[in-house]
Amino acid sequence: MKYSVAIVGGGIIGSSAAYFLARTGNDVSVAVIEKDSSYSNATTSQGAGGVRQQFSVEENIAQSTFSLDFYKQWKTHMADVPGLSDLKFREQGYLFVVTAEGEDTLLRNEALQRSMGVRTIVMDRKELCRKFPSIDRQDIVQSVYTPDDGWIDPKAGLWGFRQAAEHHGTAYINGQATSMDTTKTKVIGVNLQDGRKIEADYVINCAGPWVNDIAKMTGTALPIAPMCRLQHFWECPHGFEDLPLVKDESGMFFRPEGSGFAGGRPSFDIKPGFVEDIDSGFLGNYFKDTVSPMLATLVPKFKDLRLQRSWGGHYAQNLLDGNVIIGTYSEGHDNLLTACGFSGHGVMHAPAVGRALSELVLHGGYQTLDLTRFGYDRVKRNEPLRETGIK
Ligand SMILES: Cc1cc2nc3c(=O)[nH]c(=O)nc-3n(C[C@H](O)[C@H](O)[C@H](O)COP(=O)(O)OP(=O)(O)OC[C@H]3O[C@@H](n4cnc5c(N)ncnc54)[C@H](O)[C@@H]3O)c2cc1C
Repeated sequence: MKYSVAIVGGGIIGSSAAYFLARTGNDVSVAVIEKDSSYSNATTSQGAGGVRQQFSVEENIAQSTFSLDFYKQWKTHMADVPGLSDLKFREQGYLFVVTAEGEDTLLRNEALQRSMGVRTIVMDRKELCRKFPSIDRQDIVQSVYTPDDGWIDPKAGLWGFRQAAEHHGTAYINGQATSMDTTKTKVIGVNLQDGRKIEADYVINCAGPWVNDIAKMTGTALPIAPMCRLQHFWECPHGFEDLPLVKDESGMFFRPEGSGFAGGRPSFDIKPGFVEDIDSGFLGNYFKDTVSPMLATLVPKFKDLRLQRSWGGHYAQNLLDGNVIIGTYSEGHDNLLTACGFSGHGVMHAPAVGRALSELVLHGGYQTLDLTRFGYDRVKRNEPLRETGIK
C-alpha cells in the first residue's frame, strides 16, 4: 500500500499528527502503524494529563497556550466526529510552590508567561495559605497559580485524536515496524514484522520511548531514553478545597483524582531504560518512606492518607535537555521526521505538535508557531535548550 504519509506510533502524538494532516491536507492519504492498539504500555496511558503554561522557554509556553485552548474547544473542533471520547478536562489550575532558592527563577518565568498573555497569580506564603488552606509548609516563600490550566484524561485525548483521524480517512494499521527501505536521500517505505510493506512519501517517527528502535533503522541515534516514573493514588478522609495540580521544586506533584489524589515524585535512583517488572514492594516502600512524608509536610491533612495503588510508566526522556526534538533527524533522509523526547510534556503539547508536523509535511516549514529551536540541529551542536525552575 502507498500513502502520502506513514506515521510509526499511534499514541497521542502520532494520532494528533494524523488528525491535523488528514483534516487539513487536500488529497493527503495518511497511515498510522501501531503495534499495540490496546496502548497498555504506551506512555500516553500512564501519564497524569496535566496541561500547563508554566514554562521558561517561550516555545513551550506558546505550545501550551495553543494546546490548552484546543482542548477547551475540543467538542467544537471535533463536532463532526461520531462517538467522540469525553476529554474530561478539569480547569482547576496549576500551582508551583518554591522555597527562597527558587523564588527568582519562578518570578522571572512568571513575568515571561504574563508577557505572553498567560493569566498568572503570584502568592506569597500568607496569600497562598488563604487561597489554599490545605497547603501549609513553612519553607514556601512564593507560589504562582495559573487558574486557566488543568488536566485531561490522556487516554481520552489519544482516542479522540485517533477517532477524528480515522473519521478524516486515516488508516490505522495493526503491526510492528521492523525496518525501512531507503534510497540515498529518501525513505521510501516501512516494513512490518508480518511482511507487509507500507510505502510513503513521508515517514514520521512518533514511537515514544521506542523512538530509537525506529531511528536505528536509518543508522541514527537520538539522545532519548525510556525513563521509568512512578505514580500513586491515595485517599484521605478529610475535606479539601478545590485544589489545583500542585508541584514543588523536588519534582513532587499531586492533583485531585476521583475520590482521592494522584501524584508522585520521581525516584532519582532509577536509571534510564525500560524497567520491565517494577517490584510492588519497592513501589510501596518508596511511597511510604519518601513520597508520603513529603506530601504530609506540604499538606498536613495527608498525614492520614491511605495509599490505594502504585504503578510505573515510561516516558521518552530527552537526555540532552528534556524538551521535544521535532523535524528531520536522519542525515540524508529529508522526508523522515520525528517528534520525540517530550519527557513529561507530551500530552499538554500534542495539539501544537500535531499541527507543527502537519505544517512541515504540507508546507515544508512552520506556518504558525516556529519550533525551529527544537530541531535536531541543537543535538548536532550539543546545545541544550533547557527549562529553568520547576520542570
Ligand atoms: C508518570 C507519567 C506522568 C506524566 N505526566 C504528564 C503530564 O502531566 N502532562 C503531560 O503533558 N505529559 C505527561 N507525561 C508524558 C506524556 O504522557 C507523554 O509525553 C506522551 O504521552 C507521549 O506520547 P507519544 O505518542 O509520544 O508516546 P506513546 O504514547 O508511548 O506512543 C508511542 C506509540 O508507538 C508505538 N510503537 C512503538 N514502536 C513501534 C513500532 N516499532 N511499530 C509500531 N508502533 C510502535 C507504541 O506501541 C505506542 O503506542 C507523563 C508521563 C508519565 C510516564
